[in-house]
Amino acid sequence: MYFTDIPGQAELKSYLTSLVAKNRLPHAMLLTGGEGYGKLALALALSTYLQCPNKTDKDACKACPSCNKANQLIHPDIYYAYPVIKKDKLKREDTTSQHFLPEWRTFVTEQPYGNMKDWLRQLDAPDKNANINVAECNQIYKNLGLKTYEGAYKIQLIWYAELLGKEGNRLLKIIEEPRPDTVIILIAHDRSALLNTLISRCQIIPVPPVDDQAMQQLIESKYELSSEDTQELTFLAAGNIRKALSLGVQNELTYSEDLIKWLRVSYSGDPEAIVALVDELAPKGRQELVNFLDYGLHFFREYLLLLNTGTANNLRLTQTEKEVAQKMQKIINFDKTAQIQVVFEQALGYIKRNLALKVLIMNMTLEISHILKSEVDNFVS
Ligand SMILES: [Zn+2]
Repeated sequence: MYFTDIPGQAELKSYLTSLVAKNRLPHAMLLTGGEGYGKLALALALSTYLQCPNKTDKDACKACPSCNKANQLIHPDIYYAYPVIKKDKLKREDTTSQHFLPEWRTFVTEQPYGNMKDWLRQLDAPDKNANINVAECNQIYKNLGLKTYEGAYKIQLIWYAELLGKEGNRLLKIIEEPRPDTVIILIAHDRSALLNTLISRCQIIPVPPVDDQAMQQLIESKYELSSEDTQELTFLAAGNIRKALSLGVQNELTYSEDLIKWLRVSYSGDPEAIVALVDELAPKGRQELVNFLDYGLHFFREYLLLLNTGTANNLRLTQTEKEVAQKMQKIINFDKTAQIQVVFEQALGYIKRNLALKVLIMNMTLEISHILKSEVDNFVS
């Protein structure tokens, strides 16, 4: 992974490379930020950059043996620790990241923006809980105690560092008194789950969402969507590359059409139309319904902004969506929007509990129908 492979994050990339140029890179850092913002990819690119003897001020050279090894995740001076599960006949307490290196290499190569769910799927264990254990911490000590083989640094990445739990205490000493050529990069989604003692010894590097322009370029380079759908997906992804990649595989996005249809049918209250809609939406499956509900929540957040400000100019909606939103103002006020949001949020919760989709969609439709047809109180416009 190289910096130029990663969409957006221009400011952060130049900050990191400038730290290296000034020889002021901290021994321990914590990359933290939301899902799909590129934390792991940036940590990998930084490791490659650090080890490359021919680096420029922007990126590694991409051609030397060091770059090649780093890129294939086989550089002897770059170590990876990540949550794992029990493996075959090994005891769980003896299992460490080393036992899953082939799976890790495939995962990082194919899904560098993947999350824990994707990783567990890679391990063929979607229902297991992975963690980072004592043996792993001991291994990290061992790794960083060794002399460098061929690189300029000993680099240790720890992905999902929040899963260290109290074992994080075991790393304090090595973070506090590192060898001069050691760099430890913790990567965490949920900073609040990390021990304070650990956080306070790291330089915290917040990773922001990927900007819209970079996201749009990424989507255009990967998928052949209409320009309206590209824009819709850019807004919907909201800086999350994983989300953009998982939604972009469809040939066209029909979320906004589906939402409008849903609201129209709910408003009509026509039983036949409701049954037909349920029959149409249910076969799309659980994940698609999650994506759709996510879209609905995104739309209504923007819609509330419209109600608040009275202008559609700065909304993260496409032109068509803006027009729909403007027309909706006559029918759906603040109060009703808030109620519909609750229905969507609850449905997201129910989906995880394996409720039959038809029942769920039918329930939602009836609830939304009830909300839309209720008397318009407290109308603010
Ligand atoms: Zn190089």
